[in-house]
Amino acid sequence: MAKSITGRFAPSPSGRMHLGNAFSCLLAWLSARSAGGRIILRHEDLDPRRCRREYALQLEEDLLWLGLDWDEGGSAGGERYFQSSRRDIYEFYLEKLREKGLLYPCFCSRADLHAASAPHASDGSLIYSGACRNLSPEQRQARSRQRAPALRLKVPDEEIVFSDGVYGKYRVNLCRDCGDFILRRSDGVHAYQLAVAADDGLMGVTQVVRGRDLLSSTPWQLYLQRELGFPAPEYFHVPLLVGAGGRRLSKRDGDLDLGALRASGISPCRVTGRLAFLAGLTDREEALSPEELLPLFDWSRVKKEDIRVK
Ligand code: GLU
Repeated sequence: MAKSITGRFAPSPSGRMHLGNAFSCLLAWLSARSAGGRIILRHEDLDPRRCRREYALQLEEDLLWLGLDWDEGGSAGGERYFQSSRRDIYEFYLEKLREKGLLYPCFCSRADLHAASAPHASDGSLIYSGACRNLSPEQRQARSRQRAPALRLKVPDEEIVFSDGVYGKYRVNLCRDCGDFILRRSDGVHAYQLAVAADDGLMGVTQVVRGRDLLSSTPWQLYLQRELGFPAPEYFHVPLLVGAGGRRLSKRDGDLDLGALRASGISPCRVTGRLAFLAGLTDREEALSPEELLPLFDWSRVKKEDIRVK
């Protein structure tokens, strides 16, 4: 019997949801629901400078307005998942990694990181030079008197290969293409990679559907999940909705956020029907609710190229 699917919505409540977020959520919902699966909602609000509870509540309201419901994480009176309330859990898993000898303190400042002549990963992110990897205990002690360290995870010289449900086979060398990465910032905030790997594992997520911008994070998360003893979920990365100049939609595109769309009087079915058309699920744009889109859903129809919406 095929394993039942547990998918998730994992938004960061740092502003009003925009069309791009709704696009990923619709595809996550259709993928899980069309296979009779469940959905979990988890608010990824680790960064206290950007995230707010009122955005999270608004986000829930916008998802429900679109017709996208979930089974766990706040629906029907259950407990809401806020990553900011789960710090003890992330500390527990950090400790496990520390016991395995995989963590080290990193004292590099942002300026140091940029000055180090490390090559860039294909997505433009910096690959860590390893400057703090082999400091002696004395050097670590001396530096920690000057600044609080971040905690980094050592990655081995090893290939990670996985098959993305949309973009196909992905093969990277952890050392060469990804590099050691931060799991807890110097200000004590746990990193996205750690929280996502732990939460997807603990919550029994079997299917991750999210924007293509996170494809390059997947090898790190697969590596972390393996080291923490969690099974790997399957991944479907979806194209990004982009504005003028090919720039990914962001919270700055206020005209395409759910607040502006709802204020314009558009019906939720017109929004989901448009998103489904943009994804490649329908041949013409028509008003269709998520429920009505279920029989039309097919991953092989979903486009790979980013989608221009402005
Ligand atoms: N919280 C992330 C975001 O809103 C998504 C993380 C994920 O899906 O793994 O961009």
